[in-house]
Amino acid sequence: MRGTSKNIMWGLGLLPEDEALIRSVGNAEFTLISLPIGTIPDAEAMDRDEPSIIWISKSAWDALKVMPTTTTRHLDITPRVLLLGGEYSMLELEEALDNGFTDVIKPPLTESRIKDVLLRTAETHNLYHDIMRMTREICLERELLERKNDILSFIVSFLSRATESLEPEEILQSAQEELATLLPVAAIGGICWVPGTGRDLDATLYISTQEEHPAHNEWKELLLGGAEKLTGKRVSAYATELLSPIDATGHLMPESGKVAILPLKTAGETFGAVALLTRTELHLGKDQVQVLKSAMKHLALALRNAMLYKQMKLHADLDGLTLVHNRRHFDKRLNEELERHARYNQPLSLLMLDIDHFKMINDTHGHQAGDTVLKELAALLRNTLRNTDYVSRYGGEEFTVILPHTQEQDAAQLAERLRLKIAEYTFMHDSTSIPVTISVGLAANADNHLESADLIAEADKALYRAKEQGRNRVCTSDRCFRRLASVAS
Ligand code: GH3
Ligand code: MG
Ligand code: MG
Repeated sequence: MRGTSKNIMWGLGLLPEDEALIRSVGNAEFTLISLPIGTIPDAEAMDRDEPSIIWISKSAWDALKVMPTTTTRHLDITPRVLLLGGEYSMLELEEALDNGFTDVIKPPLTESRIKDVLLRTAETHNLYHDIMRMTREICLERELLERKNDILSFIVSFLSRATESLEPEEILQSAQEELATLLPVAAIGGICWVPGTGRDLDATLYISTQEEHPAHNEWKELLLGGAEKLTGKRVSAYATELLSPIDATGHLMPESGKVAILPLKTAGETFGAVALLTRTELHLGKDQVQVLKSAMKHLALALRNAMLYKQMKLHADLDGLTLVHNRRHFDKRLNEELERHARYNQPLSLLMLDIDHFKMINDTHGHQAGDTVLKELAALLRNTLRNTDYVSRYGGEEFTVILPHTQEQDAAQLAERLRLKIAEYTFMHDSTSIPVTISVGLAANADNHLESADLIAEADKALYRAKEQGRNRVCTSDRCFRRLASVAS
């Protein structure tokens, strides 16, 4: 029953003595509002008073019966007690019960009958409230289960998408999309580095705005700053990969919302961070914090695997001694580059380098000294050339350099610069300086129909000529030579 305030009862057309008796019995707990015959309180009064019982005299009911049900229907939801008059028939009794009266009281109305009605009303009321409470609890339980179910499906979907790929950018792309289903995430950025290496970090950044947009730089600063704060190390070198934005409209500046930087950790080692940009400040419930933590743990594992795989792949493509690409990867790369350059009708040049009298270096200074020369020469090539130029160890003391978008005249100048640089460089082993020179053969794809084997054969022939002509020089292939001669004349 209602809290501490009194419960309301309505009396419709009650006899004065009945009214007085009901009022006096219900005195402590109930207030009786008495209405004359023919007056029907409307639905609004029903909502306001929420009467616990409606006492209805026989004469009031006779008047009610002839009224349209639309004006009386709202009374049916409250327990109603019919007070019969002096004369009544069995038929009237049955009719009353058929009409949903909870009680029909024959005269005389006594104190004990009223108490009895009030008691039963209280019991019904309490029962009703118990049922309501249980229903509410069931609803809450169902909501809780639904939420847990949502969380579980999020984790399952997040996990399966994170493990679908071994490419870090694809993993972050899926993570971005999945997180957006859980939180108001507008964009994410990422940074990963190889853990445990040196004082500086060599990192890869993952950003979802194009390089030419100012937001790109903002994200870069944010991620580099985040990495330095997390590790206390400086990021000395980095590459950038692009993610597709969640929001097709755009290039979101990190300042356009709130940013959270979450570290990526496995086995206690931090190897990266994810920056989450949300449109509004995040107020996460305990459940959501747990889910986010769990998602980050899965993401860290998937990214760490992908990074290891990437490293492993890179190592498989490198020559163990000189750390430039190996012959196997060179063959693959040359084919790809030739195809790409032919498609866009772009010039490409190939250098083939061979150390002069290398056998003598080995014989004079020892095999170790020979190895040192190979390593230093490879480093010299890497540091002198552009990042897009591609150096590989073709075999023994022979190296190749693919020069994308480079005409033969420019390639010839570059080759000459390399030759001079090496001839002037002081190679040292065990405090002994070792003079080193190289011969270079140059070929180019100027007419864009050469197969890789033809280009290599041309460069090789040119190299052979350089050797024949006395070494420490650059020679171009016959075809290049003719073209260069025609340009010069
Ligand atoms: P040329 O001027 O005609 O090129 O003479 P060269 O002595 O450089 O050429 P040759 O082909 O006669 O000798 C190449 C030598 O390179 C023989 C081989 O032992 C040595 N060599 C090949 N691979 C390695 C290596 O990994 N380390 C060392 N130290 N020597 C190597
Ligand atoms: Mg050789
Ligand atoms: Mg040689």
